[in-house]
Amino acid sequence: MTQVRGPAIVEVRTSILDVPMRRAHRHARSTTRTQGVVLVRLLCEDGMEGIGEAVTPGGPWWGGDSPEAIRATIDHYLGPALIGQDVLAIEAALLAMDAAAARAHFAKAALDMALHDAAGRALGVPVSHLLGGRVREHVAVTWPLGIGDTGPDVEEAQERMRLGLNGTFKVKMGRAEPRADVARVLDTAARIGAPCRVDLNQAWDEVQAARWLPALQDGGIELVEAPLAGWHHAAMRRLCERLDMPLMADEGVWDIHDAWVALAMAATDVMAVKVAKAGGLRRARKIAVLAEAAGVPCFGGMALETSVGTAAALQVLATLPRLEWGCELVGPAMLADDIVQVPVSYAEGGVVVPGGPGLGIALDEDRVGRLRRPD
Ligand code: MN
Repeated sequence: MTQVRGPAIVEVRTSILDVPMRRAHRHARSTTRTQGVVLVRLLCEDGMEGIGEAVTPGGPWWGGDSPEAIRATIDHYLGPALIGQDVLAIEAALLAMDAAAARAHFAKAALDMALHDAAGRALGVPVSHLLGGRVREHVAVTWPLGIGDTGPDVEEAQERMRLGLNGTFKVKMGRAEPRADVARVLDTAARIGAPCRVDLNQAWDEVQAARWLPALQDGGIELVEAPLAGWHHAAMRRLCERLDMPLMADEGVWDIHDAWVALAMAATDVMAVKVAKAGGLRRARKIAVLAEAAGVPCFGGMALETSVGTAAALQVLATLPRLEWGCELVGPAMLADDIVQVPVSYAEGGVVVPGGPGLGIALDEDRVGRLRRPD
């Protein structure tokens, strides 16, 4: 019997796009005004193309990789490692990339995305079919309030609730000292009058967290993301034990091994499933499977993707048995421009999983050309 093969990869092309934000977005240690996107096109021997993108939340501050470094890693190491590979043999392609470069999760995520897109197109099915099929077509979206001032944050939240776009909100923390920061967040949450979560992006130490997380719990905050440095699983476990309010690791869980440690130690109450951080759809889904085994619910995280990365994440989230915490895939709504013909659509407090073969999106070449950074 002959082995069934998919088309072989013949070329990998990259470009950097600079996509402006609708408004500046503030994290604990950085402010994002323009999102750098590394667009990947994976060309196959039959002329078919798979699309992927590498993004980081606003540059290298979050995970160490910049768009420029990601592009260089793909052009010189990861792309060449894929030439001649079968687009249907995705696990083998991931191993070939691992042999060429350690870590480099954002870069590998872009190529894994393009591999899945090409594989789905080759077979004429949505990528979700390659991952076990869908259990949902719509995912609830929590909206990150990244202005950092109570008045404008509350106004933005209320406007979005009025439009039926979101029912929960995520308030960014960590720029001010804890007492003032907690007071601001509780004031913002009370004025919004809808469930609010917070993300500290590792701003506190264990002493600060032990002192101030109970105040957030008493104020009704529904979940706290990354209060501590990502490496501090032991302290996260101690805090999870003390509090009824769930805590979620983010920066400390990059791969299945990190996820295993966090789950085995009971150091996270919810698992953030992020395609960009995990190094692609396949590895993000493996993390979700570990969480399922541990009885820990999942949440779909983001890295400020265009509709390309958002569609990729939705193909994974559509297949997860449990997704109680929804997602924060708001990239296409936060970016002032997109690079696809039909952007992903937001409705009824969430986002719709794209249909159609592959990722379910098609590039808009005019928009890509307009946003492309000159070489
Ligand atoms: Mn986070």
